[in-house]
Amino acid sequence: MASLITHPVVPLSLGIAMGRSNIPLKAVLLGVLLSMLPDADVIAFRFGIPYEHALGHRGVTHSLAFAAILALCLCSLPAFSARRGRVFLFLLISAASHGILDALTNGGLGVGFFIPANDHRYFLPWRPIKVSPLSVQAFFSARGWIILKSELTAVWLPCLAGALAIFWIRRAKARA
Ligand SMILES: [Zn+2]
Repeated sequence: MASLITHPVVPLSLGIAMGRSNIPLKAVLLGVLLSMLPDADVIAFRFGIPYEHALGHRGVTHSLAFAAILALCLCSLPAFSARRGRVFLFLLISAASHGILDALTNGGLGVGFFIPANDHRYFLPWRPIKVSPLSVQAFFSARGWIILKSELTAVWLPCLAGALAIFWIRRAKARA
């Protein structure tokens, strides 16, 4: 996995780029949760489910189908009745971004993007992110800093720079 603190960077950046007038804060907070939720599948190890199984780590909870079902259910909440389509897309990107970031890492098995249609695990051709250990203790080590540096350059910096640029352009247009 990419580390748990890096996954929310995608929905937060998207939220900054869109602005509160375009995407409700509640949707951004849900997006943050959805961006981290897929790694709840590490519990599968406790039940003896192997990594490569469809229900294992980076399996069904990292699939596009899982992201779409969650986004569909949550955008149906009454709070989003005025902007259901936009909130659906926002939540879909937030949830699906988790698997995409994992597929950019250099370790573990690939991501089961197309489960249940196809159990194959995929990586993206470019894998600049150093894979994060599953244990929190291992993350707070020298290796943890190397991982964080790779995430800062491959995820944090481009996402936040893009988001802030769009934010300022939108603000300048609104003032003009
Ligand atoms: Zn993951």
